[in-house]
Amino acid sequence: RPGLYIVATPIGNLGDLSPRAADTLARASLILAEDKRVSARLVAGVEPRPPMRTYNDHSDEADRAAIVARLGEEAIALVSDAGTPLISDPGYKLVRDARAAGHEVVTIPGPCAAVAALTLAGLPTDRFLFLGFLPPKEKARADAIAEVAAVRATLVLYESGPRLAASLKALADGLGDRDAAVARELTKMHEECRTGSLGQLAARYGEAPPRGEIVIVIAPPAPPEAASADQLDEALRQAMLTES
Ligand code: SAM
Repeated sequence: RPGLYIVATPIGNLGDLSPRAADTLARASLILAEDKRVSARLVAGVEPRPPMRTYNDHSDEADRAAIVARLGEEAIALVSDAGTPLISDPGYKLVRDARAAGHEVVTIPGPCAAVAALTLAGLPTDRFLFLGFLPPKEKARADAIAEVAAVRATLVLYESGPRLAASLKALADGLGDRDAAVARELTKMHEECRTGSLGQLAARYGEAPPRGEIVIVIAPPAPPEAASADQLDEALRQAMLTES
């Protein structure tokens, strides 16, 4: 069927490409990829190999219009370098424009580093807030952290190895020393998930910056402590003493 297909691809292990994703890529008349070389391995075995075109953060209005103009007749697939397109990756403007022009938009869901990390961290998953990447500059980073400090949800962030320790320290300073997890190289040979408080993890990764791709997961703030019956009695007694 003609339309725009949003196709999730592996975040490391190529075995995670779903049969439906592979089938969609094989049937597409065009694959839009962030980086054609990175995505070429996904269609390496597909014959005839669908043509690929670059679609990334530099793509503009005119690029989108040219793609949208073809959607009435063709099945066009969007992939990103890894994982789910649109999640800290390009694509939402293309989906918006395709919808506005009345075309079909179909998602082929699959791997996403944020969700994979949540399933490993052992932290609450009923409410979570995905923050993408923190700003690299210190002040902007501290402001971004302060903005979410009161949010009663697990926080999920993307980070790179060289910046991990500094970010964990800034997070501990801005949020308090909450429980957290650092998930690294998910689905790859050196996959690991380390847990501890933000301060402990900052100290650990400060010694040796890790390689690879990283997701940080942070526990929600502790709920305010409910006052005990004894505390309420004492408060009442004090209030009565003050009045008399
Ligand atoms: N669209 C992707 C997704 O669905 O997860 C995310 C793209 S974003 C540009 C890339 C970031 O995702 C990396 O810097 C890292 O923080 C995270 N990431 C991607 N693959 C990962 C993996 N295998 N293990 C841990 N984090 C990963």
